Amino acid sequence: MTNSELAVFKLHARNLEKIYDPFLLRKMEDRARALFTFGIIADIQYADIDDGSNYRRTRRRFYRNSVELLRNAMRDWEERRVSCVLQLGDVIDGHNKSRDASEQALETVVKELEKCSVDVHHVWGNHEFYNFRRETLLASPLNSAAKAEAGSDLLADDIYAYEFSPAPSFRFVLLDAYDMSVIGRDESSERHKQSLKLLQQHNSNPDLNQPPVYGLEQRFVKFNGGFSPEQLQWLDEVLTLADQKQEKVTVFSHLPVHPDSTDPICLAWNYEELLSVLRSHKSVVCFMAGHDHDGGYCTDTTGVHHITLEGVIETRPDSNAFGTVYVYEDRMLLKGSGRTADRVLKYP
Ligand SMILES: [Zn+2]
Repeated sequence: MTNSELAVFKLHARNLEKIYDPFLLRKMEDRARALFTFGIIADIQYADIDDGSNYRRTRRRFYRNSVELLRNAMRDWEERRVSCVLQLGDVIDGHNKSRDASEQALETVVKELEKCSVDVHHVWGNHEFYNFRRETLLASPLNSAAKAEAGSDLLADDIYAYEFSPAPSFRFVLLDAYDMSVIGRDESSERHKQSLKLLQQHNSNPDLNQPPVYGLEQRFVKFNGGFSPEQLQWLDEVLTLADQKQEKVTVFSHLPVHPDSTDPICLAWNYEELLSVLRSHKSVVCFMAGHDHDGGYCTDTTGVHHITLEGVIETRPDSNAFGTVYVYEDRMLLKGSGRTADRVLKYP
């Protein structure tokens, strides 16, 4: 064999290796065997305004381009034939409010989402409440509870939380992390008064969006919220039933609830109470949230995965931030795009 023949042979062998990479093949087969797949995206925060930055001026925000990144995600999900999509909150930015552009911005994003051939389930974040009253949201396209197999009993109390089964033996639960909050609740309401009292017990700053100085106490800010006793009890009942049916449950919320999965400034006020409900049910396998644009991940002592998805709004136009989750009997495979990392999520 001449030197040039040898070079051609080596190149061919390398290509064969690439084509027949056993790991790649296994991954492709695995995807074909997934029971179902779903898309996840968080903090799109669309506004038709020029780029800006976050409050601390440490991160750039791409308000106008965020809808382009949503389009990228939708194209990808169509190709991957997902069964449904979970939008984890803050779909349009609070800046729209002062510009009197809330309805228009929502229309732009909803128009995109409606191109999706599958159901999109919406979680609500703080920016939803900067733009709209709770009653308005309940009557808007952002109320996706009707897509659940049965409506939530909580909706009667204006708590936006519901559950449904995306496939046999699996259950999705969407939580309302601003059920206890000082945004989105009328100042005259009992819940607003209770929430303000709790917030002021922990935060003495004149501006309640300014966090207290220390550790986990930093979560007591106006842009966070929590879960009422009614919602915690409802979640406990839903999970008890799921335990009995031996289902695998993934819970979705705008606010993260595990201190190791987020900056403490983004944690839900009563995260401990919610964690304790999750920990007492063997059906729970995963908790997914948004709100902290840097993203995060940890495994709880119980083996439950806590994923905080990177925010679209702080993602460069030449990158992406979304995920496609392939669900199997024994694990989920998160296929991340752009800033979102791939993860294997084995069930506890
Ligand atoms: Zn948020």
